[in-house]
Amino acid sequence: MALMDIRVYGDPVLEKKTESVKTVDDDIRKLVADMYETMKAAPGIGLAAPQVGVSKRLCLVDLSAGSDPDRLLVLVNPEIISEEGYQKAEEGCLSFPGIFGHVERPMRVKVRYTDLDGGTQEVEGDELLARALCHEIDHLEGVVFINRMSPLKRRLVMKAIRKLRREGQWEHRPGEGSEERA
Ligand SMILES: [Zn+2]
Repeated sequence: MALMDIRVYGDPVLEKKTESVKTVDDDIRKLVADMYETMKAAPGIGLAAPQVGVSKRLCLVDLSAGSDPDRLLVLVNPEIISEEGYQKAEEGCLSFPGIFGHVERPMRVKVRYTDLDGGTQEVEGDELLARALCHEIDHLEGVVFINRMSPLKRRLVMKAIRKLRREGQWEHRPGEGSEERA
């Protein structure tokens, strides 16, 4: 298993819609193992394949941020099949080091996906799990969380990013994540 570089905003792979995974094979399982190590090291509660430079419809969600392997969800080709309610809370993203902002999400979602054995599964989540699932599935559509912030907040965030970039600080550093980032 190997740690992968987490791409930060500005890398075009983050704003590109991913391609569906055709077959769950050993290459996919190896990618998932590497992504899991990378998410744990970050640490974060989720990681989507584009965040490690792979434009495939695949993501991980783990509210334990890697501390409890039983809580890891590996979602291949996930689709939100129903959503209800509304929540607004602060989010962070491993591809936006140091940036946090309020984002509106559904309170509850149901997601259909393929597991690592190729079987079809469904998961239902509310509150933080719903938020993490939506955040990761957005990544697979090439949508990053600042796209869902208010225009004013987004302008402030863009200004902060430009400053960090000028100072050579715009990169992900393992170990500086937090449990709210995905
Ligand atoms: Zn993210």
